[in-house]
Amino acid sequence: MRCFWDARQLAHAPELELHNGAFVPFAESPARAEAILAAIGTPEAAVDHGEARLRAVHSEAYLAFLWSAHKDWRAAGRPGDASGYAWPVVRRRQLSLDRIDARLGAYSFDAASPIAAGTWEGAYWSAQTALSALGAVLAGEPAAFALCRPPGHHCGSDYLGGYCYLNNAAIAAEAAIAAGRKVAILDVDYHHGNGTQDIFYERGDVLFASIHADPRTDYPFFWGHADETGEGEGEGATLNLPLARGADLAAYLPALDAALERIAAFAPDLLVLSYGADTFAGDPISQFRLETADYARVARRIASLGTPTLIAMEGGYAVDALGANVASFLEGFA
Ligand SMILES: [Zn+2]
Repeated sequence: MRCFWDARQLAHAPELELHNGAFVPFAESPARAEAILAAIGTPEAAVDHGEARLRAVHSEAYLAFLWSAHKDWRAAGRPGDASGYAWPVVRRRQLSLDRIDARLGAYSFDAASPIAAGTWEGAYWSAQTALSALGAVLAGEPAAFALCRPPGHHCGSDYLGGYCYLNNAAIAAEAAIAAGRKVAILDVDYHHGNGTQDIFYERGDVLFASIHADPRTDYPFFWGHADETGEGEGEGATLNLPLARGADLAAYLPALDAALERIAAFAPDLLVLSYGADTFAGDPISQFRLETADYARVARRIASLGTPTLIAMEGGYAVDALGANVASFLEGFA
C-alpha cells in the first residue's frame, strides 16, 4: 500500500499535558510517528496542496488563531506551550477577545492539547499528508495510508482538542467531495471523533459512522452518544456505536458489521477511515482489548466493502507496539 508522510510533522512537540488532573509528558509524541515509520518502510513525501483545502473545513478566524497562538503566548511573557484554562460553556459566539488566554478558551475544548512553537507547521503537514494520500486514491489506488500526526478527529471547524489541531479526515473528505466523490467516513479510534461529527452533523451528503468507547465513561464525554444521529439535512447520516470498556474483538466485530452495513447502504465511492490503534489491549490511556493480530481482521472486513479508501492515522499511544499494530492493519487491508 502506498504510504505518505512529511518529516515537518515532527515539528509539533509539546512538552507536557494536563491528564487526569496532573501534568504528564505529552502522550502524542513525535516518537509515535517514528515507531510507525520503522514498521512501514520508506513512505512517499507529502505534496503541498495549499491552505485553501484547510479553509474548506476550518474558519478563517480559527486558522489565524492557530497560526499565531504560540507567538501570542510568548509575546504575553508566558513560558512553555500555550494552553487554555477557561472555556465558554453555556453558549459559544463570536467575540472580540484580546488576551491569549481568552482566545485559547474560545478555540479549544480541553487543556490536553498544548500549542508549541512547531504546532502550526506539524498540523499543516499532517493535513497535507492526508491530502497527498487522498490524491493517490483519487488517481486509482484502492487504498492509501496517510501517516497523519498530529491526529485530527477531535478538532472541529473552529476548535482544537484531544491532541488535534486540524481535522485531517474532514479536510480530505471535503477535497474528495470537491473532486466529485460521494464520501463516507468511518472512525475506529478508541475515542469518538467529535470534531469530524460536528463538521458534518447537518450534512446529508456525508455519512459519519464511529465505533468508540462509551462517552459516559470516556473522553470526549460530551459527544458520541448513541442518540446523536445528525440534524436537519444530516438527520440519519451520523451513526454512533459506543462500546463498554473492556471490549475485545468478539465485542467489537458486531459493531463493525453494523457500521459497514450502514456504509454499504449509503453506497459511497470513497471511504475516509480514521484509524486509531488506541483500541489496543496495551494502550496506556484506553480500555479496549484488541490484539495486534486483530487489526488485520478488522482491516480485512473494512476492505471487503470494496470502496476506495484513504486511511488517516489518528491515535495510538502504546508506542512500543504501535508500529506492529499499524503494520498489521495495513497488511490486513491490502
Ligand atoms: Zn483516540
